Amino acid sequence: MQESVSFFKERKIKLTPQRLAVYNFLKKKNEHLTAEEIFQGIRNKFLGLSLATVYSILELFKREGLVEEIRINFDKSCFELAKLPHHHFFCKKCKKIFDLDFSPCEYIKKGEIEGNTIEKFQGYFYGVCKECRKIERR
Ligand SMILES: [Zn+2]
Ligand SMILES: [Zn+2]
Repeated sequence: MQESVSFFKERKIKLTPQRLAVYNFLKKKNEHLTAEEIFQGIRNKFLGLSLATVYSILELFKREGLVEEIRINFDKSCFELAKLPHHHFFCKKCKKIFDLDFSPCEYIKKGEIEGNTIEKFQGYFYGVCKECRKIERR
């Protein structure tokens, strides 16, 4: 908790209980969560908290580079706390999103592709995850 407070201070983001709750929830879950899931997870702590508020907090966090938005599932955006850039896998069967441990290609290492500077990257991979493949083979 204390750690999260100083995290906000360092980034000069005004601390509100709602912002802290969103941040801590993402940190605790350590998953790719929709705004709706975050809202459901913290709404009992705040009287009158709306989904719109959660959205605007996520927008702010995105601008400040605190969270990443993942649009791998076209139906709904997911959010996670920003960490090292990584790729994602989306399983069409169980709808889960996984982080991929993908070794960077030569462009990423150079930070340049066809003369253009790479600042961010994110690959989306679609298919059937290993858990669902086990079930399919039964
Ligand atoms: Zn699956
Ligand atoms: Zn991720």
